[in-house]
Amino acid sequence: MTSDVERWLQRRGVSVGDVAEIVYSLQLPYNSALTLQECEESVLAVMTKREVQYVLYTGIALDELAERKLLPEPLQAIMEADESLYGVDETLALGITNVYGMIGLTSFGYLDKVKPGIIRKLNEKGKHVHVFLDDLVAGLAAAASARIAHQDPKANLYELPGFS
Ligand code: MG
Repeated sequence: MTSDVERWLQRRGVSVGDVAEIVYSLQLPYNSALTLQECEESVLAVMTKREVQYVLYTGIALDELAERKLLPEPLQAIMEADESLYGVDETLALGITNVYGMIGLTSFGYLDKVKPGIIRKLNEKGKHVHVFLDDLVAGLAAAASARIAHQDPKANLYELPGFS
């Protein structure tokens, strides 16, 4: 069954599979037996957490309000310009990543820099405002990836991308 939060993501052009692909690319170097299916399950498991859902709803709602030009100034102008110094988008998304601690944090930083897959697509300037969504997806992927790492008894957590 599709959850409310999954529907919110779909409405903004992001599928669980899109996020799972990023998780897969993060974790495959450390677990060659990993499947895309396991990554999807991990993304869905992270999305069952209430604090994660609240972060997703909040960020997506702000993107949608900005798109409809319904935010008060100066917030509307800041969101339309996707001001690099705004930073609240990253701060909010860390609320997802922090669910799995330091490992998620370092992966988040890595994804924010490299912008793989759907994250890059969301970051491209278009008719939609995705100030929050690119970071939310990075936060979600980082958390789902950390969740897999924590479950692997052989994993050397300090070898995860960005942890150096
Ligand atoms: Mg952003």
